Amino acid sequence: MPYTLTPIGTVQSPYTQKFGIPRQPQLVPAAQIILMLNPAFTADSVRGLDGFDYIWLQFLFHDAISEGWAQMVRPPRLGGKQKMGVFATRSPHRPNHIGLSLLRLNRIDTAGNRVRIHCQGGDLLDGTPILDIKPYIPFAEAHPQARAGFVNGAPALLNVIWQPESHPEQLAPEHRALIEQSLAQDPRPAYQDIPERIYGATIAGKEMKFQIANGIVRILSCD
Ligand code: SAH
Repeated sequence: MPYTLTPIGTVQSPYTQKFGIPRQPQLVPAAQIILMLNPAFTADSVRGLDGFDYIWLQFLFHDAISEGWAQMVRPPRLGGKQKMGVFATRSPHRPNHIGLSLLRLNRIDTAGNRVRIHCQGGDLLDGTPILDIKPYIPFAEAHPQARAGFVNGAPALLNVIWQPESHPEQLAPEHRALIEQSLAQDPRPAYQDIPERIYGATIAGKEMKFQIANGIVRILSCD
């Protein structure tokens, strides 16, 4: 039986395009996002939530819906060479296009008639529709020793170097940290290694141009 879900709010994120978004939450601590609840949800709806350090966010991969889904997908972790069952992965290309992220909760306030939940460590596109929010309960949900299939530990980081002409000194420190942490995640499609290629990504409104070779991201420009 089909169900109709109505989003409860929208994500405000520094990532306005999919390229350059980290592949999981908390990999980029500087990624500050705001969960803007719709006016139907008052401060009553979040009473008690500020006592939790982390929250689960369920959302719609709204920008992947038109791309459909597949029984098997190629996780970036496996270099894009090997397929796994869609339900063995966190791929956006899943039947109901529902995403799940564990976010660090910083604070909750209101602006006008909107409740705003300020979080960090986001892996979400700007404008992502929010389906639900739940508190994270460590005693029941934390299993650091658990097996993790083909996902063995955090991904290796790239070193980030700013070319002088990219003028990193003109950036606000939080934007600089966000850009460095995001690019260190290696945004390239799995196992793409074209050292001469110039990539472009927009992060926090800055248009970045960069090259990647030998484990180093070289930032050419930032406008
Ligand atoms: N933590 C989530 C997301 C994993 S996939 C989960 O496990 O469900 C992460 C990728 O989703 C990001 O790299 C980004 O490219 C993509 N993404 C984030 N928000 C999206 C959106 N609203 N629509 C489509 N893709 C999105």
